[in-house]
Amino acid sequence: MSPYQNLRNSPVFADLCRVSARLGRDPLQVQGPGGNASLKDDAAMLVKASGTWLADAETQDIMVPVDLARLREALRTGDPKADNGAAFVPEGENPRGLRPSIETSVHAIFDWPVVLHTHCVATIATALRADAGQVVAERLADLGAAFVPYTKPGLALAQAIDAAADPGTRVLVLGNHGLAAGAETAEEAERLVREVVGRLTPAVCGQEPGTPDLPQSLGDHGWRTFDHGPTTALAFDPEVLGRLRGGSFYPDHVIFLGPGVFVADVEEPAEAALARAAAEPRQNLVVFPGRGVAMPADASPAMQAMARCLGDVAQRLDPEAALTRLTAEDEAELLNWDAEKYRQTLDRSPAAGT
Ligand SMILES: [Zn+2]
Repeated sequence: MSPYQNLRNSPVFADLCRVSARLGRDPLQVQGPGGNASLKDDAAMLVKASGTWLADAETQDIMVPVDLARLREALRTGDPKADNGAAFVPEGENPRGLRPSIETSVHAIFDWPVVLHTHCVATIATALRADAGQVVAERLADLGAAFVPYTKPGLALAQAIDAAADPGTRVLVLGNHGLAAGAETAEEAERLVREVVGRLTPAVCGQEPGTPDLPQSLGDHGWRTFDHGPTTALAFDPEVLGRLRGGSFYPDHVIFLGPGVFVADVEEPAEAALARAAAEPRQNLVVFPGRGVAMPADASPAMQAMARCLGDVAQRLDPEAALTRLTAEDEAELLNWDAEKYRQTLDRSPAAGT
């Protein structure tokens, strides 16, 4: 039996699928195809396939085998192939032709049998603070937590994790990105995720949502009102909107909604703002101050999940904290990365979300 089949037959794998599906159904942990999970032994790894949804972990085979020994050697030598896991899928072990997650190298370098990686909104709201490293040290040190400043997912992020972590590190707070937890079992890794959430969620969350008041004519332009309380609230809170506009804060926002937070001018007619948003790089979320939030009428489930995420993160921001934005170079690096173009293509395909 192949080492990959051994992993699939292990009781830990069944537990991992159950925990993955549970986290995947929680929009405060996972949005759309974001987040991933893995199981490994010394030389073999199963990792979530790119573009698949953790929520489907119990009903579909979303895991891809990866030759861990070869990938680790590539990471050690800085081989550019390690930037995504595609070159390390063993022949004959991948009948569906799936690609491993773009974050496969994170799973390879974080040396625990089970690794869960989520885009936990409470963690993101901390991880985009300029003082995130200090907050992690103060609140999570006894969990074995390390803070890793923002680095593009792939080879560079794996190298940054390697530099920041030691063998006792069980929790990674990834700057402007999310959370990873490593453990012997899926239950223990999930327990760490929940513990981090408890420690990073503020006692009082965010703003009161307003009532959207956008013209019906949005529909004539292929747009519609998007109403998720915390996201709608952005339109009615000039202070928070002022902090968010003019930048983006984490990779999946850039991939699914476009770079930055697009805000219409206060007096700008809706049609004019939507025409601006449709220009390249395209924006899939438009905030109309005092009026509401709009998305394309055909926005994919992943785009909608990311629109909810923005409001959920904003609700958890410390009002006093300075924030770190992705740079224009960071955004361009994500948008021009073939591995991310593949995920965007999957999101636009009819099978997306299934
Ligand atoms: Zn991620």
